[in-house]
Amino acid sequence: RARLNPHAGPAYFSPDMEQHTHSRLEMLRQLRRDFYDGRLAVWFQPQVSLADDGVIGLEALARWPDSHGFTHPPQVFIPLAEESGLIVDLGAWILDQSCAAYSRLAARGHAPRRIAVNVSMPQMRRPDFPERVARSLAAHGVPASALELEITESLLLDEPQVVLCNLHALKQAGIQITIDDFGTGYSSLGYLRQLPIDCIKIDRSFIAEIDCGRGDMFAETIISLARKLGAETVAEGVETTAQVSCLRDLGCDTAQGFLYARPMPADELASWMEQRALH
Ligand code: C2E
Ligand code: MG
Ligand code: MG
Ligand code: MG
Repeated sequence: RARLNPHAGPAYFSPDMEQHTHSRLEMLRQLRRDFYDGRLAVWFQPQVSLADDGVIGLEALARWPDSHGFTHPPQVFIPLAEESGLIVDLGAWILDQSCAAYSRLAARGHAPRRIAVNVSMPQMRRPDFPERVARSLAAHGVPASALELEITESLLLDEPQVVLCNLHALKQAGIQITIDDFGTGYSSLGYLRQLPIDCIKIDRSFIAEIDCGRGDMFAETIISLARKLGAETVAEGVETTAQVSCLRDLGCDTAQGFLYARPMPADELASWMEQRALH
């Protein structure tokens, strides 16, 4: 590796990086085209109450089909959409699709208590975000109390003023605010005091530890912190019954993971709910 020399050219630029930049640009071009051509989808993953095993929520997850019938990983295309600004339109569409799916389920008597939608910084940074959310809810007749917005801790680093202002407006409107992937971000605990938080999602990495000998120390600590803040807890990535019984003992409210269901298309939700009700 070249040493950094102030007199040399851009020492870190390699053909590899050029290739990488090119393929990201190409990918973004494709993403934008597929999005505006209506080829993206929103899938939903159920959330189950640990108290009574009932389905109490759904999380909306973006899907971008590739040529083999799988999805491009959201961890790749969501950051791309964020960097390019496409996430503003994409996120608005995801929110709208989520409200539409929720209202169709409600019409069939299958709507759980809430629907959770992930929100990115470029969306939350816009002063008109709370208004846009209100319009989506109204367009589909979804009550504000049924909507939960998931944000990540890193979202707070950038422009805390606008973000805090929007979060308070959303909360005022009756929308629930959840911190996603809790424990993996960079925010200080001090932020939690200023935030109108209703729910904390315990990151999958801490849930996985329950089964691998390192125990439940982090899950326990996060659950007790949430309780002191008056916030609910959702465990992400629950895959085993051992995790469920441990989380139940710790007083975690809700679980989401492959043990219960993988994310599924909106039109499979109602029959999944019906099947589940039979057991
Ligand atoms: P996230 O919000 O933490 O979503 C949970 C992720 O965990 C989803 O991955 C879900 O499929 C996966 N998951 C759920 N249960 C299990 C399990 O039991 N085991 C394992 N191994 N994984 C499980 P997905 O759909 O690939 O999404 C990854 C991330 O991409 C999301 O993490 C979120 O940060 C982002 N993302 C996805 N959809 C959207 C969106 O509509 N908007 C925004 N802003 N971000 C999104
Ligand atoms: Mg999430
Ligand atoms: Mg998460
Ligand atoms: Mg996570």
